[in-house]
This record gives sequence, structure tokens and C-alpha cells, in this order.
Amino acid sequence: MSIKNIAVVGTGHAATSTARSLRRRGFDGSITLIGDDPHEPYQRPPLSKEYLAGDADGSSIALFTPKMLAQNDIAVRSGVRVDKLDVAGRTLELSAGGSFTADAVVLATGGRPRTLPDFPPGAPGVHYLRSFDDAARLRDRLRAGNRLAIIGGGFIGLELAATARDLGLAVTVVEAGTRVLEPRLGSRLAEFCADLHREAGVDLRCGEGVSSVERTVDGMRLHLAGGTAVDVDDVVVAVGMVQNTGLASAAGLQVDNGIVVDACGRTASPGVFAVGDVASRYSESAGRHVRVEHVDNANRQGAVVARALLGEEEPDDSPPWFWSDQYEFNIQFTGDHRGADELVIRGTIADSEFSAFYLCEGRLAAAFAVDRGEDVVFAREMLGASFDKAMLADQDIDLWELSERSGALA
Ligand SMILES: Cc1cc2nc3c(=O)[nH]c(=O)nc-3n(C[C@H](O)[C@H](O)[C@H](O)COP(=O)(O)OP(=O)(O)OC[C@H]3O[C@@H](n4cnc5c(N)ncnc54)[C@H](O)[C@@H]3O)c2cc1C
Repeated sequence: MSIKNIAVVGTGHAATSTARSLRRRGFDGSITLIGDDPHEPYQRPPLSKEYLAGDADGSSIALFTPKMLAQNDIAVRSGVRVDKLDVAGRTLELSAGGSFTADAVVLATGGRPRTLPDFPPGAPGVHYLRSFDDAARLRDRLRAGNRLAIIGGGFIGLELAATARDLGLAVTVVEAGTRVLEPRLGSRLAEFCADLHREAGVDLRCGEGVSSVERTVDGMRLHLAGGTAVDVDDVVVAVGMVQNTGLASAAGLQVDNGIVVDACGRTASPGVFAVGDVASRYSESAGRHVRVEHVDNANRQGAVVARALLGEEEPDDSPPWFWSDQYEFNIQFTGDHRGADELVIRGTIADSEFSAFYLCEGRLAAAFAVDRGEDVVFAREMLGASFDKAMLADQDIDLWELSERSGALA
């Protein structure tokens, strides 16, 4: 069947990438994005960084300018939730009333913050951070001198800690693991990140949890499992996200750590796709389904789904890549460090300007860099290649030249 009318559920990075790619590839039918967020599509990463710091506003983080929307003839229905999907007829029931039928449906429903029972969303002083409205509410509370606790020392929690310290707040991070970011980076680089925050004055409480919360006259007292307590004005819970799969599972689609799709984003139901944070996609190189929560993945897989909608089979199995900004540092990462048996440092950790290559039996498995994004670009191309450790660490040797010498490019 030729597709003339495509509905995309969601207005985030994956939805907008799908729409843009469809137009770039010459699709001339209608494209409608339907999202429950009341705002026009916006970028999420600045919500814990520039926007929160007051260095960006709503318009500077928009994903589409009005001109782009008009030129590309993309319809966006913001503030409208899709309550039900009938996969056989590809019909969406809308919270605004009525329904919408399309030739193909793309589910780009992303996720929502994982909540903790001690911190009910909407309670005074309690914050979660996923949407523009969450960030706007939090931004109002980031005043110098205020006391902020962040539950969860993952990337979002630590970006937030950095932003809040820069704004002059007293910040405590409560992390259940022995080190912040350890599952993401391994112990040595996790320690480097922890030091950045300690040096900036963040009170890091690792191996800790909140056992109870007491309301005080001027805020909250968090009683920690180790027996200490922290008095704060506000708490942000940043303990990960839960995928928005309700629509898909109610429609009978397979859900297993995300909506299960093939390498091109197709569900088992003809004409129904899923993409972005919510999709569990088959990866040929991993030999299993993977789900990735980064912008680069949302953008790339949006393009893959657009091609599949146009009948082109072009999976993109690029390794994961993401960035994070904390204080004045730009951090980038690619690959998967689990299973790595060696870490080669290029540069000096003490100078906070270095890259680190994770090797597994001499082969490049992952890379991390501080203010050296170009080394991560290199590593992303070279994952799986074998390198001589000493040469990899030698800053006088150009990495691309090294890859030629090692035969990695062959
Ligand atoms: C604060 C923050 C900082 C981040 N920083 C970085 C970073 O530095 N680098 C990086 O790579 N990644 C970062 N990320 C992750 C990145 O933002 C996500 O990977 C990306 O937004 C995923 O895009 P998506 O379109 O799949 O999902 P989302 O952006 O979650 O969009 C999904 C949309 O669908 C809507 N929706 C859900 N169900 C329905 C329904 N039934 N009807 C209508 N609409 C619905 C949701 O409300 C949402 O608006 C960050 C995330 C956050 C929250």
C-alpha cells in the first residue's frame, strides 16, 4: 500500500527526526505529530544545562522554527494525548476528542521519570526533570543560597548538580551505588567525575538512600539510611526513566524493555513503528534487542524509520554516543565498557583534559573524553579494532595515523 498519511505519536527528538527525514527523502504526503506536551517540540538536553542555568529560553531550544514547520508542511498537535491505538485500522483516539486515522503510525512516546514513593510528584519542594514545565518549575527554585538534594548520581542528576552549584546553591547528591556513574563509566572514571563534583563543593553521599522524609518549617529533612540527615529546600529525584509503553501494550504490541521492533523500527503489526527512547530495536552487531536513551540514537533511528516508511531497508547500527556538560567540561562517551579489561589514558587526568580508551583483549570497546570530543569521534569509528596501548596513550601520535599504522582502517 502506498503511504500518504503518517501519524507520529510524540513531539520529541525521535518524532521530529522522523518527520524531518521523511521530508528530506521526498515524502510528499501528510505528516502529523501528536504529542501530549503542551509546548511546541523542544530539545531535552538543555533542560538540565543551559535552560536551567538561565542561558537559554524556550525559543532557543525549539526543535523546529515556525519557518521550518511551514516549509516542510509538518502539522504539530501539541497538548493532545493519544489515549488508544487500534493497530489494525491504524486509528488513534485522541484526548482532545475524535480520532485520527493514518496509513502508518510511528510511536515515539519516550519515557517519564521513575518516581519514588517518598517523593510524590507535585508535592511542595519535590521535583522530577523530564519536560520543559518540570525544568521551568525547578528553574524558579534554583536561587543562590537554597539547599538542594538530588537523589540519583547519574548523568542528569550530576548535570543538575553542576548547574545548581554554578548558581550558588548548596547541593547534596544521594547515590545508592558506591560511586556516581560507576555502572556507566567503570570505577576509575567514575571517581574522576566524583572528584569534579567534590571539588566544586557538592556533598556526595554514596552508598546511601533516603529512609524517611520529614517536613520541617522551612523545607524537608531527609533521613539517610546511614543515620545522618540533610536539611533541604528542594529535592530533585533523578533515578532514571520508565518507558511510555502503555499505548503499545494496550494495543497488543510486544513490549519487553520497550516496544519491540526490528532493525528498521517495525513492530510486528504492519504499518506500526516505534523509535527513540521507547523502542527496543534489534541490533545485528549486538545480536539482541537494545534500547538506547540518547539524542543521537533518537535522531539516527528516526531517519531509519523514515527510510523504512518509504520502502528503504537501511538499518543504522552505529554504536551509542552521548555527551554531557558539567561545569566547564564537555564529556563524551561511546561504546560499551562492560567486559573491558584495560583502560588506556591519553593525556592527564589531573589536568581534566584527557581521553580514556577501554580495551577488551586489546580491542577498543569504548571511549570517554573530557574536552576532547574529536577522540570520541575517532573511537566511534574504530570500535573493535586492535591497538598498541603505548601508542594509543602517546599524544605525539595522531590517532588517525595510528589507526592506519595498526591496520585498523584496512
Ligand atoms: C534533562 C535531560 C537531559 C538530557 N541530556 C542529554 C544529553 O546531554 N545527551 C543525550 O544524548 N541525551 C540526553 N537526554 C536524553 C534525551 O533527551 C532522550 O534520549 C531523548 O529526548 C529521547 O527522545 P524521544 O523522542 O525518544 O523521547 P521523548 O523526548 O521522551 O519524547 C516523547 C514524547 O512523547 C510524548 N508522549 C508519550 N506518550 C504519549 C501519548 N500517549 N500521546 C501523546 N504524546 C505522548 C511524551 O510526553 C514526550 O513529549 C536528556 C534527557 C533529559 C530528560
